[in-house]
Amino acid sequence: MDLQLRDKVAVITGGSIGIGLAVAEGLAAEGVQVALCARNGERAQQRAEEIAAKYGVRTLGFAADVTDTSALDSFVTEVVQTFGGVDILINNAGTGSEETVMEASDDRWQYYWDLHLMAAVRLSRAVVPSMRQHGGGIILNNASICATQPLYYEPIYNVTKAALVMFSKCLANELIKDNIRVNAINPGLVMTPDWQKTAKLLTADTDTTWEQYLDKIAKDNAPIGRFASPEEIANLFVFLCSPRSSYCVGSTYYIDGGWLNVTK
Ligand code: NDP
Repeated sequence: MDLQLRDKVAVITGGSIGIGLAVAEGLAAEGVQVALCARNGERAQQRAEEIAAKYGVRTLGFAADVTDTSALDSFVTEVVQTFGGVDILINNAGTGSEETVMEASDDRWQYYWDLHLMAAVRLSRAVVPSMRQHGGGIILNNASICATQPLYYEPIYNVTKAALVMFSKCLANELIKDNIRVNAINPGLVMTPDWQKTAKLLTADTDTTWEQYLDKIAKDNAPIGRFASPEEIANLFVFLCSPRSSYCVGSTYYIDGGWLNVTK
């Protein structure tokens, strides 16, 4: 199937590793020009150069912390100067947390609020004028199954991802008149280096290997019994970026190997 994405311009936050990198590669494989940002600009630039060499598309790697409004402004300015505009925005940068509501400080809440919600709000405001000029666009927000089905150890993550899902719905209603389609994606367990690092730490002095530890998490939670690869998640992102998904508007798509427990 031709996904009709050739020569579009995509902005991907947190595109240097994990799901964001897989989305960048998936889009580049369809001929999309990709601009990646992450705090570690060197890694973002390296991945961008590798993608350019592998897929023959123009790319940009940029150092920006998405919780920093001036860094976001610089990123968007650079993208527009390099590519002339934006067609696709993937709000992906994010990370898990660990706290209790009773003990977490306001500063901690504020950081995750900025990371998961306000970055998406600010970037959407910044790129929508360009999308309007191009006659339409796509905004995808990478939330989490935790937006609906919370994990006990990360209330701030759960709450801020839930806010991102509601933001997606509100923005979708506001922008569909401009032919800009907004959707959210709620992944379940996705095998990224971060999961592996945590598993290695937690099993360091035990009889369990990190692989066994992760395998148990998958078997205990997801009916499919395994983690997704970032590429399996990226395939859904790429489809939702395509005009082939033209009736997908304002929805939240779970991609979780059956983990969402709708019977509870
Ligand atoms: P990774 O930790 O593998 O990658 C995170 C990416 O975001 C990196 O490129 C990182 O680069 C960047 N990043 C992190 N913080 C910031 C910041 N403040 N500003 C700019 N860039 C930042 O994460 P995943 O691929 O696992 O997760 C990606 C998204 O998917 C997240 O929003 C996560 O919540 C969501 N998700 C992940 C799941 C999973 O099981 N892995 C499940 C459900 C949702 P750098 O460190 O250089 O900034």
